[in-house]
Amino acid sequence: MTVQTADRVSSLLASLGVEAENPGAFDGSWIDTSGPLIESINPTTGEPIASVRSTTREEYERVAAASVVAFEQWRTWPAPKRGEVVRQLGDELRRHKDALGGLVTLEMGKILSEGLGEVQEMIDMADLAVGMSRQLYGLSMHSERPEHRMYEQWHPLGPVGIITAFNFPVAVWAWNAMVAAVCGDSMIWKPSAKTPLTAVALTRIAQRVLEANDAPAIFGLAIGDRNQVGKPMTEDRRIPLISATGSVAMGRSIGKAVAERLGRSLLELGGNNGIIITDDADQDLALRAVLFAAVGTAGQRCTTTRRLFLQKGIAESFKTRLVDAYKSITPGDPMEASTLMGPLVDGRAVEDMKAAIATAVEQGGQVLCGGEAIEGDGYFVQPTLIEANTQMPITCDETFAPILYIFEFDRLEDAVRDHNSVPQGLSSSIFTTNVLSAERFLSPAGSDCGIANVNIGTSGAEIGGAFGGEKETGGGREAGSDSWKIYMRRQTCTINYGDELPLAQGVEFDV
Ligand code: NAD
Repeated sequence: MTVQTADRVSSLLASLGVEAENPGAFDGSWIDTSGPLIESINPTTGEPIASVRSTTREEYERVAAASVVAFEQWRTWPAPKRGEVVRQLGDELRRHKDALGGLVTLEMGKILSEGLGEVQEMIDMADLAVGMSRQLYGLSMHSERPEHRMYEQWHPLGPVGIITAFNFPVAVWAWNAMVAAVCGDSMIWKPSAKTPLTAVALTRIAQRVLEANDAPAIFGLAIGDRNQVGKPMTEDRRIPLISATGSVAMGRSIGKAVAERLGRSLLELGGNNGIIITDDADQDLALRAVLFAAVGTAGQRCTTTRRLFLQKGIAESFKTRLVDAYKSITPGDPMEASTLMGPLVDGRAVEDMKAAIATAVEQGGQVLCGGEAIEGDGYFVQPTLIEANTQMPITCDETFAPILYIFEFDRLEDAVRDHNSVPQGLSSSIFTTNVLSAERFLSPAGSDCGIANVNIGTSGAEIGGAFGGEKETGGGREAGSDSWKIYMRRQTCTINYGDELPLAQGVEFDV
């Protein structure tokens, strides 16, 4: 790291209250944690930027106990008052957008524009949640019994466990935390060990807002490994909901542990997202969309486009244009405004990408461009296009790297069938100017994913809609629409304002 870069890094960390070594747990005050040190590595250079001391099982216990106390207080605050605290958190994030966005880029490696976009997404979530705080509506029903009234109401649920992935180190916390906060829940956040600094910085921002409002310490933090923090949290009966974002393997393990105690889980897992481009599509539009969705974030979004289905009439010309576009992308420093693709998160991700490419070639794939790791500092790879066929098992896997498999098709129904043939079901798109093709893609016999787009790529969802996917993606929904309901418990109430006690379904029970 040059002296200039080192200065830039330390002033950014200082402005966010992040130090050379940080405690890894917060329960209203910072706990002097005693687990092993977790180094935060800048994937652009491979150098450590600071470290966090991880949380032990005993220290997790302190955070969990505090989150129960915080919940018992917070649930008594009127929801719009809770919304006011979230509004102030959104404002505080506006003030720190540049620094926090920079830290996301530094620690995770996504380009600065995306790092800033991630903080903007948190701000948008705060705004959305403030509105929700006045709209946590229940329904009222007509009772079949005379002089009776029925309605349902929504109460705060309890402390929520939030487990997040490295690739959205702050936004995924916000999808959960902003909504859970207005719903009256407290939280314990277990971030990825690859991005501990952003979690410390964000919790410090949240701490200031809580203290300014004399609010209970609802935003708990426990940075630690799966044995010291992950396992005790998922098995903890005091935590009625575990919201977990990460790989399918993680979701399988957490889903089982939470189901074992009959808890509630909200799973946001891996995707294997496809774009279908028909002969009549606007190819310029499609090219730009494929590029952003497949190469953006160096292929490390859950919604990254990993499979491309080209109709035969345009396949050759589109491939030629795509190869040219891929060749024009030079991976580089994600802090530089001109960079479109930064590094992968670590050396393991580079190895996984190389292994997937080798397997794809063994299975009959042909590398059209890219295919190599880039020698030197940091974890850089070439964005890669592979001509594939649907018989290649590797194309059913999510490799968290910029590899795009290309298939060709004759008839739309075949493309949709092949598109749906993978185990994951997160995001999908069609590019077409034919209204029938678009509607068929969106019909019950069309895409089987939680997200289905027309003339837009698979990534970059807005927060207003419910976000999530089907099949092995886990079925969870977060952010907009009515996704707040999972953070609350529903209560159905029947009130008798008469002098008689009629029974439902006409049952007689007179003594
Ligand atoms: P990961 O599964 O390795 O880790 C995710 C989180 O789970 C981390 O905090 C990790 O420490 C924790 N974890 C892992 N196993 C655990 C266990 N058994 N018990 C408790 N905690 C455990 O995922 P990652 O590499 O950080 O992120 C990439 C993955 O996340 C990709 O598969 C991507 O598609 C997925 N993802 C999905 C979404 C979505 O909304 N669907 C969003 C972002 C990322």
